[in-house]
Amino acid sequence: MPATVLEGVKSFGKVYCTLCTRTVDAEVMVQANMVYRKANLRVVSGQKCPRCSSSLDAAFVVGPSN
Ligand SMILES: [Zn+2]
Repeated sequence: MPATVLEGVKSFGKVYCTLCTRTVDAEVMVQANMVYRKANLRVVSGQKCPRCSSSLDAAFVVGPSN
C-alpha cells in the first residue's frame, strides 16, 4: 500500500489485546514507516477493549478486519 496516499487514514482492523489476550475489532490508523519505507497499521489511541475494557493503547494490530 502506498504510504504517501494512505497515511492518516483510519479504518477498522483486528488488534490483539495484551491484557485479555483476545483479538478484537478496533479503529486503526495507517502510519508511514520511513525507516523501512512501508506503511504500518497502528491502533488509534484512546480506545477501550470491548472484552475487558482496558486501554487498547498497548494493543498491537494483527491485520485488517477483512
Ligand atoms: Zn482486552
